[in-house]
Amino acid sequence: MAYTFPRSTELFTRAQNSIAGGINSGIRKLEQPVPLYFEKGEGARVWDVDGNEYIDFQLGQGALLYGHAPSGLAAELAKQARLGLHWAAQCELEIEVAERLQQMVPSVELVRFNNSATEAVMAALRLARTHTGRQLVLRFEGHYHGWSDEGLVGFANPPGAWGDDENPARTHPSKGIIPEVPEHFVVARWNDAEHLRRRVAEYRGQIAAIIFEPAVCNTCCIEPEDGFLQAIREVCDEDGIMMIADETITGFRFGAGGAQAYYDVRPDLTIFGKAIGGGTPFAALAGTKAAMAKIISGESIHAGTLNANPLCLAASRWCLDEVIALGEEHPRTTNRLGQQMMAGLRELADQHGVPLRPQGPGLAFHTVMLKPGAKEGKVLDYRDYVLRHDAPRWAHLRRCLLEEGVRAIERGLWSISLVHTEQDISDALERAARAFARHAA
Ligand code: PLP
Repeated sequence: MAYTFPRSTELFTRAQNSIAGGINSGIRKLEQPVPLYFEKGEGARVWDVDGNEYIDFQLGQGALLYGHAPSGLAAELAKQARLGLHWAAQCELEIEVAERLQQMVPSVELVRFNNSATEAVMAALRLARTHTGRQLVLRFEGHYHGWSDEGLVGFANPPGAWGDDENPARTHPSKGIIPEVPEHFVVARWNDAEHLRRRVAEYRGQIAAIIFEPAVCNTCCIEPEDGFLQAIREVCDEDGIMMIADETITGFRFGAGGAQAYYDVRPDLTIFGKAIGGGTPFAALAGTKAAMAKIISGESIHAGTLNANPLCLAASRWCLDEVIALGEEHPRTTNRLGQQMMAGLRELADQHGVPLRPQGPGLAFHTVMLKPGAKEGKVLDYRDYVLRHDAPRWAHLRRCLLEEGVRAIERGLWSISLVHTEQDISDALERAARAFARHAA
């Protein structure tokens, strides 16, 4: 029997009287048929208030690399809660977490902590402008860098509002932003090194930073083509630009050294979020000593009442120790399980005549639903994705999957945790088979 959601529906109706729109982050409204209310999670499984059990590939939008409610992490939080929730001062834990980051990621010499990656991105862009004395930031279409005025410029323009190929539009999807903010951005297409070089040449001496997701997990899990990240490094070095890797999703999902180790590149600054806190509100801005100098001097202000909160720090120390202990095994195992899931989904898609194409390394992957007549092959950038992906058809399949107990991110991203097992993958594929049959019926 497919799942139903009467209690979630009742709670969502009630929530709309006290919570604006009934949800606390815009994206949560995308869940169909209703935003779900959850009660508990354990390992790779999560239960909603209707008693429906899901094998979870949404994983708290990727933060739960260690699964739901790991007992070791819960014990660390309980221990820390008894000692103190918040001091707005220093504690040894913050040094311990910073030292682990230094040990794990070669480009990290110094760090500062924040509560969300949106804030850490804001700090990074301010720092890059202070460091270089320049105003412009170059970013790529389809890369998400948080929801601030700066983070969303040119993120995901709809077709018709893209601007031309050489000069992508820098429109902002939200009303109410400071109108001049987009003027301080240069938008480029991903995975085209020659185009990138032309964009940088056009604004030579004016670009403070190039910010990017090393693998574009927010759009179709698009990995960098061979040499593309190295091309970003080169143009940054040639023109005195700071290279900022936004590893909010990739950090520790791609292994202890993040995507920068996975793809062998060294940025000046890095943003960590999500998995660094294992589900607590924690993020970091990290970088080389030279890159962090203007934060040390105080010329680039960085602040926050709850920064380096001891609860988040206790969680983070436990999380980072898990990743360190796994060594080379992660991301090998997570990639292998993810690839099994991708292969299983593709097989089901073929069996049922559904044009679903999984793409990504495995530890995270995306499911593209091809539009009728769309070309086959790897999606390489945001425009390519929008032109080929059949979003309404994917939304229908995603709903069928949910109703059979398999939960992926609404827009099609799947994440594997360190606690998913072969059994979880085969159970998920068994459930997915029923979902495909209902979708195709
Ligand atoms: N950067 C990337 C790559 C992200 O995926 C996200 C969130 O999904 C952010 C920044 C913003 O993170 P937060 O929601 O913690 O502010």
